[in-house]
Amino acid sequence: MFLDVKELAVHKLNIRKSYTPGNIDYHTAELKQVEPLDVLATAELIDSQIRITGRLETKIELQCARCLEPVVEDVQRHFDLFYSPLPKDTKPEEERLKDLDADIGFYKGDGLFLADVLVEQVLLAVPMKAICRSDCRGLCAACGANLNHEECRCETHATDPRLAPLARLKQDWLKKQ
Ligand SMILES: [Zn+2]
Ligand SMILES: [Zn+2]
Repeated sequence: MFLDVKELAVHKLNIRKSYTPGNIDYHTAELKQVEPLDVLATAELIDSQIRITGRLETKIELQCARCLEPVVEDVQRHFDLFYSPLPKDTKPEEERLKDLDADIGFYKGDGLFLADVLVEQVLLAVPMKAICRSDCRGLCAACGANLNHEECRCETHATDPRLAPLARLKQDWLKKQ
């Protein structure tokens, strides 16, 4: 859905949409939308700014930072956003919809895609680091075993989650021997 400033100049837009998984590109392999993304919002033009206000709801699958198993997070977010026209002298590398660290959003040309706005809001709503459960034991750093499911025979279990990908690599390597 494209929010066109020419249309918004005529009337405010009431949006009620549901995007099934696969319809929105999050440009990352680190998360996956697993339930429809429902959005209820209004878009209007205030001076030359597009204001989008509403709420979204979906479920997003991430990877547990400790054991690498999938974790599904409920995502609900209210938003009230303003997008200004991108200044004409902006260099191409600066042309992005929004700096995630700043509160300023921009649109280019005639408007912006609602899906792009929703992607930003979902990325802001998901936790930086997902854990499948608070007592997740992670992977054994020596053999890569998932300690939630099995005990391994290693003497010590390093629980540093940063070592988990390494452990998995080692496990794959051992399987090939
Ligand atoms: Zn886990
Ligand atoms: Zn082990």
